[in-house]
Amino acid sequence: MPCNPRYEILFEPVRIGPVTAPNRFYQVPHASGMTNALPRVRAAFREAKAEGGWGVVCTGACSIDPSSDDAPLPFATLWDSNDIRAHALMTEAVHRHGSLAGVELWHGGASVMNRTSRLPPLSPSGIPWMATHVGFMGNLRPKTMDNADIRNVLRCQADAARKARTAGFDIVYVYAGMGYLGYEFLLPEYNHRSDCYGGPIENRVRFVREMIEVTKDAVGKDCGVALRVSLEELRGRPGRNQPSEAHELVELLADVPDLFDVKMDSSPTDCSASRFTGEGSHEPVIDFVKSLTKKPVVGVGRFTSPDTMVSQIRRGVLDFIGGARPSIADPFLPNKIREGREAEIRECIGCNICISSWHDGVPVRCTQNPTAGEEWRRGWHPERVERADRPERILIVGGGPAGLECALTLGRRGHEVTLADSSRTFGGRLTFEKTLPGLSAWNRVVDYRLGRLNEMSNVSLHAESTLGADEIIELSPDRVVLATGARWTNMLYSSLEIPVGRLDHPDVFTPDDIAGGRLPEGPTLVFDFDNYYMGGVLTEHLAVHGVPVSYATPAGQASAWTIMTNELPLVHRALARRKVAVTTLHLLKSFDGETATLAHLFTGEETRVACHSVVIVGLRLPRGELFETLTERADGLAAAGIRSVDRIGDALAPGAIAHAVHSGHKLAREIGADIRWQPYRRDTPIVDAVADFDMRTAAE
Ligand code: ADP
Ligand code: SF4
Repeated sequence: MPCNPRYEILFEPVRIGPVTAPNRFYQVPHASGMTNALPRVRAAFREAKAEGGWGVVCTGACSIDPSSDDAPLPFATLWDSNDIRAHALMTEAVHRHGSLAGVELWHGGASVMNRTSRLPPLSPSGIPWMATHVGFMGNLRPKTMDNADIRNVLRCQADAARKARTAGFDIVYVYAGMGYLGYEFLLPEYNHRSDCYGGPIENRVRFVREMIEVTKDAVGKDCGVALRVSLEELRGRPGRNQPSEAHELVELLADVPDLFDVKMDSSPTDCSASRFTGEGSHEPVIDFVKSLTKKPVVGVGRFTSPDTMVSQIRRGVLDFIGGARPSIADPFLPNKIREGREAEIRECIGCNICISSWHDGVPVRCTQNPTAGEEWRRGWHPERVERADRPERILIVGGGPAGLECALTLGRRGHEVTLADSSRTFGGRLTFEKTLPGLSAWNRVVDYRLGRLNEMSNVSLHAESTLGADEIIELSPDRVVLATGARWTNMLYSSLEIPVGRLDHPDVFTPDDIAGGRLPEGPTLVFDFDNYYMGGVLTEHLAVHGVPVSYATPAGQASAWTIMTNELPLVHRALARRKVAVTTLHLLKSFDGETATLAHLFTGEETRVACHSVVIVGLRLPRGELFETLTERADGLAAAGIRSVDRIGDALAPGAIAHAVHSGHKLAREIGADIRWQPYRRDTPIVDAVADFDMRTAAE
C-alpha cells in the first residue's frame, strides 16, 4: 500500500551538519544493556531498526574515559582500538540499510562511582549527584575538577570523537543531560565555581560549549555534532533576558552544535511510564527550542501515532521524531507508516520493562517485542519467521499474552492454529488489568495480536470454549500448547521468606477475586509482597471504587520493584493523592474478619489494623491441572496422534507479561525443532590484542 500523503512529510531528508538523514525517524540514544562485551548482539539489535526504516540509529551512553565508569550498570566505551572494532560492527550494520549511525559520547561526572576504574569521579564543585542507585559513603565522593581536569576531559572527548569517526559513526554527541557531567556544569546547585565556568548562565554553559567545539574541531567536517541536553530544570528557572534559563541556554548555543537533542532531566520524567503519562509529554518543556535555533531539533515522547508525529513537525515543535521505546517495541515502525501499514504498528505500551533490563544490567527485554535483544543470539528477526517445512495442526488453550503471541507466530510460520479461551474475550489477565487505573495502554499487547490474527486464514479463534483433557483428545490436533495462565494465592511468608501457609478466611481476597467482579467490603487492607505494580494499582482501583483502603508491605516502599520501571515515585504520589495509608517493613500475621495483625519485619512489634477484608497480592502459581491430567493420559494422547503437550507463559512460570510473550514466541519458533541444551549463541568481546594503553603523564 502507498504511504498516506499526510505522512509523507515524515520521510523528508534532513541535514545534520555535513551529513543527511534519509528521513525524520531518529532512534535517539538509549541503553541496550549490551555493552562492548556483546558487540554482535548489539549490532544486530541496532541493525533491525535501520532495516525497519529509522533514518538515524544511535548507541546508548558510550564512555569517553575510565573516569566515567558506571559499573555495574551496563555502559559502552570508546577508550581504545578494541572498542573501535566493537562499534564498527554496529555502524556497518546500520549503514547497510542507508541509515546514519550516531554515538552518544558520555561523561558521567559525579553520577558515576568509578567502582571498577577506582579513579575519583569528576564534578564541577565536588557535589555528589544523589540517585537511588548511587551509594554515598560506600563509594568515592567526586573530586572538584581543576583546569587540568577540564582540559583532560575536553581532550578525551576529542579523542573519543576521532575514534568514533574511525568506527564509522556519522553523528557524534556531546551529552549534557540526566545528571551527567555537562549537566552538572549547567546547574548552579552542582556548579559553585567562581572561575569562568561558574556563576551566570553564560559561564555555566562554557564547558558544554567547549565540549561541542573540541568535537567539531576533531570530526566536524565529516560528522554531525549533536548536543543532548536536559531542559526540564532549567525551563523552571526564570532567565535574565529570556523566559527561562533553558531559553538562554539554547540562545547562547544556537549555532554551536549541528543538532539539538532535547529531553527531560531524570529517568522517571524522561522515560515516564504510560500508567502516569501520555504520548508527547515532553512538549511543554521543549516546545520553544526551534524558535531560538535554526539547527534541527529531535525530541521524544513515546510517539507511536503518525498523526501525532506529523503534528509535531507541522507545528514546529520538532524536526525529527525521536524514538527509543517505540523503536524497541517496533523496529519497523517507520517502514509500516511508509508502506501504508500503520495498523500493523506494534505500539509501545509504556510499561518500562525495557528500562528495568538496564537496571538489572542485562540486555534489553521488551513486553511488545519478544525479539528485542534476540536478533543475533537466537536469530529472531522482528518481522520475519521461518516457514514450517511441514505445517501442523496446533491447538493453543488460553488466549492471554502468551497464547496470543504463540498463535500469531505459529500462524506466520504457516501452521494451522486453533486458539481457544474460556472467556468471552481474548486477552487473559489483561482483560482485567487494562481496566486498572492508568493501564489501558497495556492492552496494546492484545489489540496488536488480535488485529493480526483476525486477518489470518490459517488461524481460528474460539472464545467461550473451555477445554478439558477429553475435548482436547477428541479434537486430536498434532500438538497442544497450554497457555492457561496462573492464579494468585493467599499464601503468606515469614521474615526469613519461607512460605508459612495460606490465610483462609471468607474475607481474604486475591487479585483474581477482584478480577472476577467481587469487590471487598471496606475498610480493606491490601498486603503486597509481589512488589511489582499489582498491589499498588489494585489499591488505587479500590480507592477509585470508594472502598476505604490501606496498604502494607514487607518491602521498604510501596510497589518496591517499580523502582526498576521508573514508576516508584509516581506510585507513591498516586497513593498519597488517594489518601491511602502506606505501611512498609511489615508482615501480615493474621486476620479475623475485623482486625489484621501486622508485625514489624525486624523487631516483630505488632500493629493492629481495623479492617473487614484483606487482599493478598503475593505468590502466583501456574494453573496446572490441565497439564497434569493430560500427562497422566499419555496413552490417550498417543492414540489421538498428539505429538506434544507444551506449556508457555504463566502456565509454565508466572511472571511479568513480557516473559509470557517471550515464552509464547519462543515456543512458536522452536516447536518441533530439536533444541539442544545450548539455547542461544554466545557473544564475545572483540579483542585483537591487549589494547593500546594511553598513559596520562603528570604534565597533562
Ligand atoms: P499468560 O500471561 O501466560 O498468557 P493469562 O492468565 O493472561 O496467561 O491467560 C490465560 C488464559 O487461559 C485466560 O484467558 C484463561 O481464560 C484461559 N484458560 C485457562 N484455562 C483454560 C481452559 N481449560 N480452556 C480454555 N481457556 C483456558
Ligand atoms: Fe515499550 Fe514496554 Fe517494550 Fe519498553 S518494554 S519498549 S515500554 S513495550
